[in-house]
Amino acid sequence: MNIFQLFKSNSRIKLPQPVSGGLILSYKCSAECLHCIYGCSPKWSADWISENDLQQILSSLAGKIEPSPYGPEIIGLSHGLHITGGEPFLNFELLSRSIEIAHELKIPSLFVETNSFWALNDKITRDRLRELKDKGLHGIMISVNPFYLEYVPFEMTERAIRISYEIFGKNVAVYQSEYYRRFKMLEIRHRMTLESYLKLEPESELLRNVEFFPMGRATYELEKKLTGRFPRRPGYYFYNQPCNPPFLREWHNHFDNYGNYIPGFCGGISLGDCRQLDTLLKEGIDLEEFPILNFLIYEDFEGLENYAHELGFEESAEGYVSKCHFCTELRRFLVKHGNFRELQPVEFYEHIKNDINSN
Ligand code: SF4
Ligand code: SF4
Repeated sequence: MNIFQLFKSNSRIKLPQPVSGGLILSYKCSAECLHCIYGCSPKWSADWISENDLQQILSSLAGKIEPSPYGPEIIGLSHGLHITGGEPFLNFELLSRSIEIAHELKIPSLFVETNSFWALNDKITRDRLRELKDKGLHGIMISVNPFYLEYVPFEMTERAIRISYEIFGKNVAVYQSEYYRRFKMLEIRHRMTLESYLKLEPESELLRNVEFFPMGRATYELEKKLTGRFPRRPGYYFYNQPCNPPFLREWHNHFDNYGNYIPGFCGGISLGDCRQLDTLLKEGIDLEEFPILNFLIYEDFEGLENYAHELGFEESAEGYVSKCHFCTELRRFLVKHGNFRELQPVEFYEHIKNDINSN
């Protein structure tokens, strides 16, 4: 029995109360990484979260978000709250305000996630990080791997890491530190395309060393670059595979600028309005109103596929590289053939794959 069957009562279920997660200020990003689970890019509408929504969401999260086991001022990737995007430093004023509000609300283990594109020189980097620390930010997570390297010169990443250690001490997470070590060892400078990087490190090594989820843009765009590395399977192959990590859980959920309570890393799915989080948690949701959620929560992918078939979905003859790829393809079809409030934000489905008009 999973945790959600415990909560089930007829078609109404209670949702898990979040204990950690990320607040997405906007899906707009300076980069368009091949592995991005939310399909972020410069093409997204800016649609920055409003201050009113910021206040409402953070107020609802206060008292629910749990600190790292090492204390409320220590960061941990699956503890506390991170401010993210897209790229949150694209709107520094809003980022700074969000930290201020979260700090006033005593949200523990608060950190920001960045690709460092803004670390143009030491002064800018130090001034910005110092300002955020003064507003109450506990730490920072800096992204490093060959997919970011296509967009962010490594000197900027190095600078952001060096000055972050100076300002935040041990509250700096370099994700992934193995790539930081490799890039230093390879004496990488500037930006580098994935094709150039693969001349330094074979594909097999890359896939072994880089941690990424086979979901989001990776299943479309990364797969095209590393042809043949991801075996494809028919949809039924995934019917009995559990979502991993579980679809509904208390930890590491996301809350976006449109007010969506996003389960885990599942871009394009909304459990409801996180601006009304207390009501949503108290009342739960009626799955009769959310057919796609009904299938996803009970992991009935055969049912979801049949449902999509009835609306005209045709399975890809090439197959799918992961369960999440199959799931996203079903949803990409359904979002065009119905009005499903749980498939939000709709723009996710327009940006997840480059050839947006294909089925
Ligand atoms: S992975 Fe991060 S840096 Fe890259 S496109 Fe997505 S949000 Fe932007
Ligand atoms: S299969 Fe779908 S619901 Fe399950 S983890 Fe992947 S994207 Fe989320």
